[in-house]
Amino acid sequence: MLNIKHSEVSRRTKERDCILNVLDLLGVLCDQRKLAPRRRLKRVFPNVPPAPGMPCAGEDRSIYRRGARRWRKLYRVNGHIFQAKRFNRRAFCAFCQDRIWGLGRQGFKCIQCKLLVHKKCHKLVQKPCSNEHVDPVEVKDDANGESTLGRASSVRSRAEPEPPLPETPPAPAPPAPVRPEDLEPGSQRQYSLEDFELIRVIGRGSYAKVLMVELKRTKRVYAMKVIKKALVTDDEDIDWVQTEKHVFETASNHPFLVGLHSCFQTPSRLFFVIEFVRGGDLMFHMQRQRRLPEEHARFYAAEISLALHFLHERGVIYRDLKLDNVLLDHEGHIKLTDYGMCKEGVRPGDTTSTFCGTPNYIAPEILRGEEYGFSVDWWALGVLTYEMLAGRSPFDIAQAADNPDQNTEDYLFQVILEKTIRIPRSLSVKAASVLKGFLNKNPVERLGCGENGFLDIVNHPFFKSIEWEMLEQKQVVPPFKPRLEGERDLANFPPEFTDEPVHLTPDNDTVIADIDQSEFEGFEYVNPLLMSLEDCV
Ligand code: ADP
Ligand code: MG
Repeated sequence: MLNIKHSEVSRRTKERDCILNVLDLLGVLCDQRKLAPRRRLKRVFPNVPPAPGMPCAGEDRSIYRRGARRWRKLYRVNGHIFQAKRFNRRAFCAFCQDRIWGLGRQGFKCIQCKLLVHKKCHKLVQKPCSNEHVDPVEVKDDANGESTLGRASSVRSRAEPEPPLPETPPAPAPPAPVRPEDLEPGSQRQYSLEDFELIRVIGRGSYAKVLMVELKRTKRVYAMKVIKKALVTDDEDIDWVQTEKHVFETASNHPFLVGLHSCFQTPSRLFFVIEFVRGGDLMFHMQRQRRLPEEHARFYAAEISLALHFLHERGVIYRDLKLDNVLLDHEGHIKLTDYGMCKEGVRPGDTTSTFCGTPNYIAPEILRGEEYGFSVDWWALGVLTYEMLAGRSPFDIAQAADNPDQNTEDYLFQVILEKTIRIPRSLSVKAASVLKGFLNKNPVERLGCGENGFLDIVNHPFFKSIEWEMLEQKQVVPPFKPRLEGERDLANFPPEFTDEPVHLTPDNDTVIADIDQSEFEGFEYVNPLLMSLEDCV
């Protein structure tokens, strides 16, 4: 007992020390304060609704679905603040004078004095920054994807005009059109926008708009995730569009993950045609139910665990588990979607360090600036399970919404790092225990992160009634079946989306002129499995 208390105290002391450093840390890692001073937060469920399913007083439904972001890393050397960058035009390293090749973000650019160097040379730069202390970045804070730079860009610096370069080469040639004979066997049929009828808008996230569409030839219904290429600006260690595509491909093999039908592009947009999941997302259902019986939450948490475990076994950290990324199918089974924040290629024991996610779900180790692994997904599952069981976020503070100092992202991060999470007394001992297990601020001690890994979750008393093998085979009847009248019923999608006009805005030539199309070469894809199914129709 004493030992437990002792370690608890030392852990909390350690955490408090970390908090003292956290703002500095954020300053170093992502220049959070400069980029987004006092970002206002709103609570998930601010009040009690007049009747089930009705919005609460003052409830602004548009706030719920925003949030996934990736903060940019800044590297400070000799007063310079470097960011990784891909160069579309010919550029030379100010340190070694060699050419900086465009592929793979080998270039670093100082956001103050615009000095260009190789990534490998940036630490060797002797020359101090000539423009230090100038307010470095212009911030675009628009989380609503379709209109401008969004998702990752909410706190990402925008591309500044390029400095004059030593030599201006001709504009890059447009990619050669793909000829049918160049395609791999089995992938001869590419899809394009003309193959689909756009039926309705069904969702929006931090950077994508999602439509319900019909493949004209087969009359089958799909979801189409549309991303503006202008959003895919130069990030550093990620090609998130490629990652999203790879993970969609991997996901096609699991019952609780949304699979991919095809990918194609236009000059301004990328299109993922994916399985249409009819029952809507958990955010939609939680807004109506407010909180779920333990039996329901257990079922969803168990199916989500299987989906996460499947991804982890394939080296993928999901990194964006939240209510609006968990969909329900027509029977009530879950399906995770949205792989834009995933990290691929992670082997057991490997770690990564990108500061990203949706603020309310970001694990303490990410906030502390530590290297992290799969543990962050189990933390997020803890937050989500808490939300299902309690009907509110574990980090909601009473009255916080009215106090400007407590209504910021910095404050939320502080709460995540240091506040002892209170479990509602109405929950069972087992539910409280699983929440405490997942919401352990120390990733080493967190449920699912020990030596036995996933087995500790499987064997946790909260999940005792779950028959895991049956569950994975969809043999367990879900506790709730979404109400649906037919295959195209949109009753489970918020009217704020389904009432939107479905058309895509016409391409803007000036925006397209700024897009380096070579970045999207090879994006086209057709899932051979789904295609052969279609041929049977
Ligand atoms: P973002 O990456 O911008 O967050 P998402 O992929 O999460 O975009 O999609 C936004 C919303 O669209 C989701 O929260 C969900 O409500 C809806 N949605 C996404 N994919 C599907 C799908 N396959 N079937 C039905 N609805 C979907
Ligand atoms: Mg999403």
